[in-house]
Amino acid sequence: MRSILVIEDEPPIADAVAARLRSEGYLVDTANDGPSGVERCNAMQPDLVVLDLMLPGLDGIEVCKRIQKDRPVPVLMLTARDTEQDLVLGLTIGADDYLTKPFSARELVARVNALLRRVDLERSHDRPSTSEVGVIKIGRIELDLATRKVHVGEQAIHLTPTEFDLVAFLAAEPGTVFTREDLFAAVWGYEIASGGRTLDSHVRAVRRKLGDDLIRTVHGVGYAIDALEGEPTR
Ligand code: CA
Repeated sequence: MRSILVIEDEPPIADAVAARLRSEGYLVDTANDGPSGVERCNAMQPDLVVLDLMLPGLDGIEVCKRIQKDRPVPVLMLTARDTEQDLVLGLTIGADDYLTKPFSARELVARVNALLRRVDLERSHDRPSTSEVGVIKIGRIELDLATRKVHVGEQAIHLTPTEFDLVAFLAAEPGTVFTREDLFAAVWGYEIASGGRTLDSHVRAVRRKLGDDLIRTVHGVGYAIDALEGEPTR
């Protein structure tokens, strides 16, 4: 059974989210402030964390950093306001997706399921498969599709599952410009009107980690990765 930790200080929201996820077959536990959330996460080792941004004790950004320090865990962040700043702060520190309150239970479940599907994909890549093996090289950047490890020169760089999928998707079709809508649908696995902003935040996070030159913005259209040195080896 997959386990989910819900870190949320508003009891009605925490209870509703936990009840809905349990009815979907997940094992769910809750914490109602930042410090107990970190502690619970370390003890429970959940498959996914639903994390409120505004929490007593430690805010969601600090909680996100601490719970991902030793072990990457997918994070769906809840924000009270749909502001760009919440988005940027939440997503460049390792959250994989966000939901703005109020949200429907159906939407929450869709996000959770999509995020866990991507994690399954990542786990299946821990063992070399016949479908996706090889290394994509973009200048000094190397993406190993089998192990999902990323290096810039000799230095190992940690990308979240979402960031890795975004770069790998773009790099698989060098020079092709993808619209923000197409990219969001392909990488996140569902369509949403506001998905473009989530995508933009992830592009910023990737640029921060791998350099500004990697992903090219095509104004009014979308994004592309160019300048591949050689084709993916298989
Ligand atoms: Ca809160």
